[in-house]
Amino acid sequence: ATPVGLLAGTGRGAQLGLLIRGPEVLEDTRRVDTVVLDKTGTVTAGELRVTGVEPFEPADPANTPLAAEDLHRIAAAVEAGSEHPIATAIVAAAPDGEPLTASQFATAAGGGVSADVVLPGSADPARVYVGQARWLAEQGLELSPAQQDRLASAQAEGTTAVLVGVSDASGSRMAGILSLRDTVKPGSADAIARLRRDGLRPVLLTGDNEDVAALVAREVGIDPADVFASVLPDGKVAAVKALQAEGRTVAMVGDGVNDAPALATADLGIAMGSGTDVAIEAADITVMGNELGQVVTSIELSRKTLGVIK
Ligand code: ADP
Ligand code: MG
Repeated sequence: ATPVGLLAGTGRGAQLGLLIRGPEVLEDTRRVDTVVLDKTGTVTAGELRVTGVEPFEPADPANTPLAAEDLHRIAAAVEAGSEHPIATAIVAAAPDGEPLTASQFATAAGGGVSADVVLPGSADPARVYVGQARWLAEQGLELSPAQQDRLASAQAEGTTAVLVGVSDASGSRMAGILSLRDTVKPGSADAIARLRRDGLRPVLLTGDNEDVAALVAREVGIDPADVFASVLPDGKVAAVKALQAEGRTVAMVGDGVNDAPALATADLGIAMGSGTDVAIEAADITVMGNELGQVVTSIELSRKTLGVIK
C-alpha cells in the first residue's frame, strides 16, 4: 500500500513533507500520549563506525589467535549478506584486499548474520556467525568468563559490540569481538524536549544492549525507567502492547524492517522517510528526511489540522 496522499492542512503538510495515510490518522494523533522511539536510525544517526577489532585468545593454547585484520575480513565477508547499519559499517571499514569467499547467507533479525566462509589459510568453508551474545549462544557458541568480561567492558564504554563465532570440523569457538559506535543526531535532544512540552511521554526502544541504550537516553533526556533495551523484533510489538495495556495511546517511530510490526501495532505509526520501504508501508505517517524534529512537527501539525479537515 502507498500513502493515499498529502492531506495535512492546505499545503502546509506538503510543504513540510508529511505523507499521511488517511483522515482517521489525524484523529489518532490527538489521542496519543506516549511516543515510542526506535534508537538506531531514529534517535541516532544509524551511521556506525568500527572502533575496535579484538581477536580472542584461543581456548586451546596450541592454536594461534587470529590477526585483527583477518577477524575484520571474516566478519565483513559475513556482513556482506546483511543491510543492517552494523553490516554497512563493518564492510565499509574492512581492510583492503580481495574479500573472502562467502556463501549461504542467513539473517536472524535482531540477532545477527551467518555465512559459509573460506577462512584465510583454509581450504574448506566454516560456518561463521556475527551477532549478539544471546543469539550466538542459541547457535551453540558460548562465551568463556574472560570473553564475557571483554564484552561487558566494551559495552560499558557505550559501544555496540558484535561477536564473531566460528563452527567447523574441529568444533565451535568464539573468534573475537568488534566494537561499533553510533552518534545521536544533532536535533534529537531538542525534538524530545519538544515532545515533553507537548505533554507526550518519550520512550526508547532498541535491540541494542542496555549500556548503549542508557547512554543515549541520558543524552537526549529520556527517563531511565522508560528505556526498553535488548528487545527482539517480536519484543518491540510486545513493548507497544504492554504500554497500550497500561491504558496509553502509543505512537511508534521507526525506520527499520524490524520496526514494521511495531509501527503497525501502535495506535499511530510514524516512519522516517530515510527508512526502509517496509517501515514506510507499515506506517500511518511518513516524514521526509531523517530528523526527529520532523516527527514532532507532524504530530503537532496533525493535531492542529484536525479541525480544518473535518
Ligand atoms: P536496533 O533496535 O538497534 O535497530 P536490531 O533489532 O536490528 O537493533 O538488532 C539488535 C542487535 O542484534 C544489534 O544490536 C546487534 O547486536 C545484533 N544484530 C542485528 N543484526 C546484526 C548484523 N547484521 N550483524 C551483527 N549483529 C547484528
Ligand atoms: Mg532503527
